[in-house]
Amino acid sequence: MSPKQVPPSGVDPYFPTHGDARYRVHRYELALDYRPGPNRLGGSARLSAVAGGAALAEFALDLAEFRIGRVLVDGKAAHYTHRAGKLRIRPAKALAAGAAFTVEVHYTGNPKPVRSQWGGLGWEELTDGALVASQPIGASSWYPCNDRPADKASYQISITTPSPYTVVASGRLLTRTTRSSSTTWVYEQSAPTASYLVTVSIGQYETVRLIEGSPTPSPNRTVPQTAYLPARLLPEFTIDFARQARMMHHFEELFGPYPFGEYAVVVADEELDVPVEAQGLATFGTNHLDGSRTSERLVAHELAHQWFGNSVTIADWRHIWLNEGFAKYAEWLWSEHAGGRSAVEHAAAAHALLAGLPQDLRLGDPGRKLMFDDRLYQRGGLTVHALRCELGDEAFFRLVKDWAVRHRHGVVGTADFTAHADRYATAPLDGLFQDWLNDPLLPPLPVGAR
Ligand SMILES: [Zn+2]
Repeated sequence: MSPKQVPPSGVDPYFPTHGDARYRVHRYELALDYRPGPNRLGGSARLSAVAGGAALAEFALDLAEFRIGRVLVDGKAAHYTHRAGKLRIRPAKALAAGAAFTVEVHYTGNPKPVRSQWGGLGWEELTDGALVASQPIGASSWYPCNDRPADKASYQISITTPSPYTVVASGRLLTRTTRSSSTTWVYEQSAPTASYLVTVSIGQYETVRLIEGSPTPSPNRTVPQTAYLPARLLPEFTIDFARQARMMHHFEELFGPYPFGEYAVVVADEELDVPVEAQGLATFGTNHLDGSRTSERLVAHELAHQWFGNSVTIADWRHIWLNEGFAKYAEWLWSEHAGGRSAVEHAAAAHALLAGLPQDLRLGDPGRKLMFDDRLYQRGGLTVHALRCELGDEAFFRLVKDWAVRHRHGVVGTADFTAHADRYATAPLDGLFQDWLNDPLLPPLPVGAR
């Protein structure tokens, strides 16, 4: 899409066919059954939604190839078509502007990843189990959703699967009920959650309570932290994640209270290119463990996303640097705090790296093709560092914490951030943001922070 074609408000210019901005969902209730052997997923999704400013004669959900049993709107059968990942629903009677309504979709099939330039996204069958890694557009591989990051909702996820398997999902485990050879796991995520951050992991995992903590946010609470992993990897895991509790404490000091009830880490029994963040959870691969903390920067990166991306969520994918720049900078801050290389040293290394690479990436609107380019991460971290150098530590850390606290569980864009940053500066920041966010040329290495 060329810059002149302005997409309808609320539609993501990088993924214009995803999501439907004419209504919003405030709650999803998924009741699913999964059989790992045949990789069969089925059940129902019940969405509680509100129509936008105009009456809705029809609306759309994103849902990959499944057999649809029936579709109900406000309990009544609705007409629908299901084609090219879109479930278009026409209620028996048009929904009035601003009306609350429910949609129930019954579906079954063999979930498979959504194809993308980054490979398969979403539901992924493993050798013995499954996992979900949806960023940015894989959520429709396993449930019907309004797949745009700005439409955050609460979730109840119930999954029934053969009893030897452990099911981990976003949120707090409410109940676990075993009947004959199947077990039903019910999780509740009450915090507003973007569809790409909803996850499930199913595997033969050991459960390790790292920190008991308290799920109810309160001053000075300790955040409960749990890990799920193949039992044979426990020795390495114990070393590689030994400092996560300290990391949590440090990030709470820097970014304000942890935004969710709990934090879980899954180490899937499979190698993964990169770990991936989800709401209150992160998924790693066996290759991220080695018993020498080689991947500790990624432990910090995924944890930092709980504030930057998961709680403070981008309105659309043009603003991805707000997620990845802060997660990258959090890696550097952790390294500095833990006695490793300082943020200044990391910034210098990132700058040297970028200086040798093509300078054709606009950080503030990188385009769909480059949104997960490594240069976006490095330059994102450097942009945060440039701000620190410009403002000094006192104002910079106040800015960062206030940003995470003010927009807790909210939706933001780059303009919100630059306006926020201006309040902490004694001189205008227009030049800094122009150079770092809009001009593809690499600015000089920022100096000034101690
Ligand atoms: Zn990231």
